Amino acid sequence: MINRFLTAILLLIFFISNIQAQKSTNDVEGNNDKYIDWYEHLHQNPELSTQEFATSNYLKNVVNSMGYTIIDSLGYYSFAAVLQNGSGPVLLYRTDMDALPIKEETGWPIASSKSSIKEGVSTPIMHACGHDIHMSTWLNVAKEMYLSKNKWSGTLVLVAQSAEELGKGAKGIFNSKNWNTLPKPAIQLAFHSNANLEVGQLGFCDGYAMAAVDMMNITIYGKGGHGAEPQKTIDPILLSAQFITAIQTIVSRNLSPNDPAVITVGAINGGTVGNIIPNEVMLKLTIRTYSAESRDLVLRRIKTIGDQLALAAGLEANRLPKYDLLDMSIPSVFNSVSLGNSLKEHLSNSFSIVPVSPTMIGEDFGIYSKQNTIPSYLIWLGVLSSVQLKNYQNDPLGIPSLHSARFAPDYKNAIPAGTRAMVNSLLYLFKTKK
Ligand SMILES: [Zn+2]
Ligand SMILES: [Zn+2]
Repeated sequence: MINRFLTAILLLIFFISNIQAQKSTNDVEGNNDKYIDWYEHLHQNPELSTQEFATSNYLKNVVNSMGYTIIDSLGYYSFAAVLQNGSGPVLLYRTDMDALPIKEETGWPIASSKSSIKEGVSTPIMHACGHDIHMSTWLNVAKEMYLSKNKWSGTLVLVAQSAEELGKGAKGIFNSKNWNTLPKPAIQLAFHSNANLEVGQLGFCDGYAMAAVDMMNITIYGKGGHGAEPQKTIDPILLSAQFITAIQTIVSRNLSPNDPAVITVGAINGGTVGNIIPNEVMLKLTIRTYSAESRDLVLRRIKTIGDQLALAAGLEANRLPKYDLLDMSIPSVFNSVSLGNSLKEHLSNSFSIVPVSPTMIGEDFGIYSKQNTIPSYLIWLGVLSSVQLKNYQNDPLGIPSLHSARFAPDYKNAIPAGTRAMVNSLLYLFKTKK
């Protein structure tokens, strides 16, 4: 009797544990269209850089339920989801999470109607840089990698990063205490949506792919006075004009023609009316370079030219221009050539590999490579359908670029394509990287 009773209890325990095991697998698998729900939720609930509280929680809950370990407090709302799966290499795959202060004009039924406070003003927000594609693909990859645990061995570190658009998120991660507790990656990967590539196309740009970004405010001093008596003044407006023209010679005459750089003065503010020479003028610049050497040279030359022009204008040494390099500098994205070559070779069977030219736009994924000492690659992900690309050819407004209010990726196909490409890459690298 006792034996029968025990057998019944054991059978009951067996059934319950079996049901639970099945349930947790089902949780992970979900239905096949789960990524569409994820995308649509994230698209309708965008949050601005450094405000990604709900987005971060949403992602955390999904990956946590899959069995990943969450490492939190990586600066702003950044976190990592780690899956340790035996011995082997540590591979990192990053998504960004932030949206942009743009009013969506896609006309989609799932268009964002969210607003947020930016600098005290309510601003409409939208995922116009494809970070919602990146996050949904990232979740889908997390799911697939969990389900295919028997096919790989090593540690997968999935990073969800805040504030990419401000160039602050990656810095926040590396400055956080918890980052040092994470296993050190041997290879790091990320996607960025590309509004010129078709779904199924992957864009590769070996070497320098995206620029180092510096933002600088410069105050040009002078000696104000009457506009009709310039001989009694030192005119900071004339000095600014000379300076703006002269710094363009840095790109054309100091850097090699094979070493691209951009110096843009995006704002010039000074003076009030036509007959007053002001005391000072404020300039706002963005500076784009690739190598650390070029960056140093450009910054040094800007100061030399500014100081020498001020002295030549008759200013004293204590009235030389003030150069404020803003705390937004990010290094260039350098895509490892050997990593790129092996990925291209491996993926070319199932994807169309497209060579993409370097761009002077910035991306803070460049920070992850630690001055190019950790092989890293940011792959451009095609996100438009062939029909969309064809239709846009007849559209007077053209293809909506990233950061456009009309950016409307073919998410239903782009996310599974991105998932296949990333899962393929990770499985291949887990196998080949020692
Ligand atoms: Zn962007
Ligand atoms: Zn972006």
